[in-house]
Amino acid sequence: MKILIVEDERPIANLIDLNLSASGYQCSCVYDGLEAADLIENHTYDLILLDIMLPGASGYELLEQIRPLGTPVIFITAKGSLQDRVQGLRAGADDYLVKPFEIVELIARVESVLRRTGKTEERYEIGDVIIEPKSMLVSKKGVPIMLTHKEYELLLLFVRNRNIALFRDTIYERVWETEYNGDSRTVDLHVQRLRKKLGWQKCLVAIYKVGYRLEA
Ligand code: CA
Repeated sequence: MKILIVEDERPIANLIDLNLSASGYQCSCVYDGLEAADLIENHTYDLILLDIMLPGASGYELLEQIRPLGTPVIFITAKGSLQDRVQGLRAGADDYLVKPFEIVELIARVESVLRRTGKTEERYEIGDVIIEPKSMLVSKKGVPIMLTHKEYELLLLFVRNRNIALFRDTIYERVWETEYNGDSRTVDLHVQRLRKKLGWQKCLVAIYKVGYRLEA
């Protein structure tokens, strides 16, 4: 899955690159609007992350160029006002991310846009474990694994953010969809069950005082 990152703030571009690459995406970064236009003309991407305020050409101008190609676009910008958001979506962006953002949110949006636009095959292979979100099937060495709904949601969160450290509060808020009250037992208990069911004692790593990371 090839992603083009168009962002003139290099630390942000590099941070996105680092994290999406860790999740298995093939990323290219470009820091200038005109260079971006050139790349878009000569290469094919599955998704473009597009900053709005850029030297050379604006994100809106680039979007005009991208739209006929049908490549999905997520705007990434500091301009967070409602008006800008509406303008971005009206111009044909598939989603909108306002800086500063959390990496988990970025990855969730990337996954969601790729899914919506039919770009993702939605099948994950982590060692001998296979996860097929369309059918909600999880198997290990070909043998189906029975998971509760929350265990499954937790697994999907880890798999979609593999090699990224996830904070307990982020995990809780994503999977249980309520605000984290500081009680770590629910998350810890479910992680223990996942480890046991999938044989992931070694790859589902606890990070002291932070949370967990799936090493894959
Ligand atoms: Ca910018």
